[in-house]
This record gives sequence, C-alpha cells and structure tokens, in this order.
Amino acid sequence: VEVPVDGRSYSIHIGTGLLQDTCLWQSLIGNAQVFVISDDQVAGHWLPAVQQMLSAVDYEHYIMPAGEQHKSLEQFSRIMDRMMAGKRRRNGVVIALGGGVVGDLAGFVAATYQRGCAIIQVPTTLLAMVDSSVGGKTAINHPAGKNMIGAFHHPRAVIADLQTLTTLPAREFAAGMAEVIKYAVIKDREFLPWLEQHREALIRREPQVLMDAVARSCENKANIVSRDPTEQGERALLNLGHTFGHAIETELGYGSWLHGEAVATGIILACKLAERLGRLPDDSFRCRLQSLFNAFDLPVALPDDIDLTRLIEHMKLDKKNQRDEIRFVLPNANGDSDIVDGVPVAAVLDALQQRD
Ligand code: NAD
Ligand code: ZN
Repeated sequence: VEVPVDGRSYSIHIGTGLLQDTCLWQSLIGNAQVFVISDDQVAGHWLPAVQQMLSAVDYEHYIMPAGEQHKSLEQFSRIMDRMMAGKRRRNGVVIALGGGVVGDLAGFVAATYQRGCAIIQVPTTLLAMVDSSVGGKTAINHPAGKNMIGAFHHPRAVIADLQTLTTLPAREFAAGMAEVIKYAVIKDREFLPWLEQHREALIRREPQVLMDAVARSCENKANIVSRDPTEQGERALLNLGHTFGHAIETELGYGSWLHGEAVATGIILACKLAERLGRLPDDSFRCRLQSLFNAFDLPVALPDDIDLTRLIEHMKLDKKNQRDEIRFVLPNANGDSDIVDGVPVAAVLDALQQRD
C-alpha cells in the first residue's frame, strides 16, 4: 500500500516472512547506521530475525519495558542518552519493532533526534499494522494526559510481517480487529460483508485473509489521512467509537479494558445514538456489528455497574469538545459516517441507558 505525503510517498509492505526478506531490508537500509527500539515482550520473539538482517551494518538496540506507562518522557530521555552516547549520526535509521507503544515512542525519538532522522516502522500488533503505523502521528504521554507531547513524522517505510501476529495474545489480536471493523463502518461498507464472510479464517489468523484485511484497512486509513494530513476535518472520522471508548477507558482505568475493546463497545453506542437521532432507520446495522464483535470475543455492552453520569463528564472534558455540546462520529443510512456537532447530552444518556 502506498501512502502519499507532502508530494512524495512511502510504502507499507504487507506479507508473511518479510522479516527474513534480505532484498527488502537491503533496499531500505543500505549501509546506514541502525538503532532498533523494541520492548521486552516483542524482542524475545522477533529481535533475532531483525538482527540477522542487519548483521552487516553498524547496529545497536534498546529494549524498553512493555506497556503504555512506558510511553514516557523517562524512556524518551533514556533512548536519547543512548543515541548520543553511541554518537548516532543524523543520517542513520531508527527501527521501531513492536506495537503502537514502541511505534509512537520511537517515532517521536526519530522526529526529534537532531531535528529528525529516518524511521522504519515494523509493527507487530494488528492495531499497529492497521492504525498507528499509518499516518505519521508520533507521541509520548505526559502525566497530564495521553499523547500530549508529539509530532508528525512519516516513516521511510512500514514492514508489516503477518508472521509476527502468530505470537500476539488473543485479546490483543481481537482488540486490533475492532479497529479493522471500524473502517467498514466509517465508509467502506463493502468491507463489512467481506469481514462477515471471512470471519472464521480471520479468527484462525490465516495469512492470506489477514493480508487482505490489513491491506484494505491501511488503504482506508491512508486515504483519509492523505486528504486531511493535519486533522482539520475528515480525519476526525477515524475517531468513530472513540468518544465513547475513551470515556470508558478513563472511567474503568487503563489496564482494565484494552483500547480496542472500548472502541468496539463505543461503536455499538454510536449506532444506538444514531438510531435515536434518526440517522439510522432501525437496529439492523447495529445487530450485524454486534454479532461480528461477538465472534471476536469483543464486548458490545457497558459493564452493569458503570456510572453513566461520570462517563458523560469524561466525554465533555475530551480535548476535542467545547462546552456542553459533545461531538460524535455517527454512522448514517447512506453507508458512511458523519462528524456530528452539538449532540444533546440527553440523547447520549438515553443511548447509554438502552440495555438491549
Ligand atoms: P502495545 O504496543 O502496548 O502492544 C500490546 C502488547 O502486546 C504489549 O504488551 C506488547 O509487548 C505485546 N506485543 C506486541 N507485539 C507482540 C507480538 N507480535 N507477540 C507478542 N506480544 C506482542 O499496544 P498497541 O495496541 O499495539 O498500541 C497501543 C498504542 O498505540 C497506544 O499508545 C496508542 O496511543 C497508540 N496509537 C497510536 C496511533 C497513531 O496514529 N500514532 C493510533 C492508534 C493508537
Ligand atoms: Zn483507536
């Protein structure tokens, strides 16, 4: 998949066994100095393969502890220390081997090291393949909030080797599927029957079917991002299910539900809200999505004891909202979705209270 940016473009290579593809690595890296960043869960499985590809070049790696809490200023500063100590040159290449946490942190390192050096993203989670490695957003967290420090910095290339997904825990895989299904709801409605048809093969992680799903998701994201690189308008569609989802994550505390799990329930809530506002004629679309999410063991309803008033407070505080009006991305009956401003809080509460 080609991603056009600022008058040039870069490639997302998707396939099985790409970590062992000598020609590909040679063409992307040549003799450049390489600095690999990975985490302690991913490195054990996949770092040796990458090291083998880089045996002829000036090579160093940094392994961070896995987890969102380490997408931090502290890790950023440690990596910078290592790169300075190693006298890494600006024309060197950073390689991010891991999920979205490694990708975002390494991306921000590459965006800022000596005002910017090249990065190759090697995503190893489904979420990172279909979402975080496409679009050039990089960031680290600040105690005041998630992704509060960051930059736009596009990679030289993305290498998505589907083989890496064989070691991904089932829950993480399912969470990535929520973002895949998201593209079918945003605007690619032909993708929905395809996903329904290939459901069992996807659950079995069959490489050919996974490749099609990842490629189609990347195309969807690349399309949206290239039309609106800095999020002035259309790119906000990617937040479908995320206004509800972020509120759920905040209320339950990070580490309880995975991001993709909150997004799945968030998409179902967005459908309920769309039905109430007359933007969807009935619940048939939502029922299809519910059974698809169910097949992947993704949650489609809020926990019984969650505090709905607090959920609404979180949504009002979302940095993308103003005052008492909440902005949502809602599916419509024409087969795509709209950014809807000024949704009344009462309708949101009704949707949250609806039990079926
Ligand atoms: P993650 O990077 O934390 O990975 C999830 C877990 O799986 C981690 O424990 C990791 O060590 C492990 N893991 C990763 N690959 C593995 C593999 N192949 N085998 C075994 N274990 C593996 O989480 P994620 O879901 O990939 O990414 C979430 C992050 O992505 C968040 O910080 C989010 O803000 C960010 N994000 C960024 C963008 C963007 O546009 N930049 C978009 C969406 C999400
Ligand atoms: Zn998301």
